[in-house]
Amino acid sequence: MSGTSYVLDCGRCGSKNALFSSSESKPFDYNSADCLNCGFSYFTKIYILKKDELNKLRKQINFKSSKLTKQEKNNCKDFNKVYIK
Ligand SMILES: [Zn+2]
Repeated sequence: MSGTSYVLDCGRCGSKNALFSSSESKPFDYNSADCLNCGFSYFTKIYILKKDELNKLRKQINFKSSKLTKQEKNNCKDFNKVYIK
């Protein structure tokens, strides 16, 4: 774990030191926060793109994709077991 926690001013209600935020950088950037004054809450959404969404995105930015290696597929499975319920 390599996370940090901090308290910020809320971007919704403007309350000073009411937004309790935390972030992680491994194995991916993750951020969440809750305003204890107005209830504003957000978090990083974890999602696996559907095949057509992925292809559309690749086409948009002209990304040359390659097939996942066996190791990469295993990495995905291990990741999903922990992070995708
Ligand atoms: Zn607030």
